[in-house]
Amino acid sequence: MLKKIEGIIVKETSYSETSKIINILTKDGIIGVMAKGAKSLKSPLRSFTTALTYGSFNIYYHEDKLSTLKSADVINNFTNIKKDIILISYMSYLTDLASQVMKQNQNEDIYNLLISSLNKIENGLNPMIITNIYELKLLDYLGVGINFNACAKCGSTSNIITIDPDIGGYICQNCYTNETIYDEKTLKMLRMYYLVDIDSISDLKISNIVINNINYFVNTYYDRYTGLYLKSKKFLEDMTKID
Ligand SMILES: [Zn+2]
Repeated sequence: MLKKIEGIIVKETSYSETSKIINILTKDGIIGVMAKGAKSLKSPLRSFTTALTYGSFNIYYHEDKLSTLKSADVINNFTNIKKDIILISYMSYLTDLASQVMKQNQNEDIYNLLISSLNKIENGLNPMIITNIYELKLLDYLGVGINFNACAKCGSTSNIITIDPDIGGYICQNCYTNETIYDEKTLKMLRMYYLVDIDSISDLKISNIVINNINYFVNTYYDRYTGLYLKSKKFLEDMTKID
């Protein structure tokens, strides 16, 4: 059966001298596809079968064995991302993260939010902010969502004074012991990150202090609560340190 699927190639593996298997992340999860002859210089499939290609793929779909690729078209080349090694690292991490979360919870929102995030980074918005927004939104799909309305310890909705990634969210005056105090802007912005519709973001005016506070919060929270340890994340951290 001929079928058209949309997705991003998350992995390419050599199969023979001339062929390879590509794993495409789609809204229905990851699909493995044999690209016959795609390694050959003359193959029309060659340029459409490299990792991080975002396209539509016409495949001969087989229910219980590997599907084969017939033809492909690029949907977005992400040319701005692909000329910058830091942005490529962000894209690799985001697609890797989406793939891992999809394995735990096959929800097409995870895919749609990924595409929205990549479009925003391609259009020049701050990649760290967009990545943190995506990471915060994925927490619900990982089953470790944060309550952005109440103290993480007692559930009180008043007198919130700070956040703490180890405690897992907001802390109110009564529950406060010795956690770092973050300013009100950081607390408000963290909630905004979680609630914002990624497609609607056109401009971001957020101070570097707030951006870095939230990035620290998200990274620490991920380490502590998600159980995900991705090489692409480690690579991204190393790359942004050099930068
Ligand atoms: Zn409390």
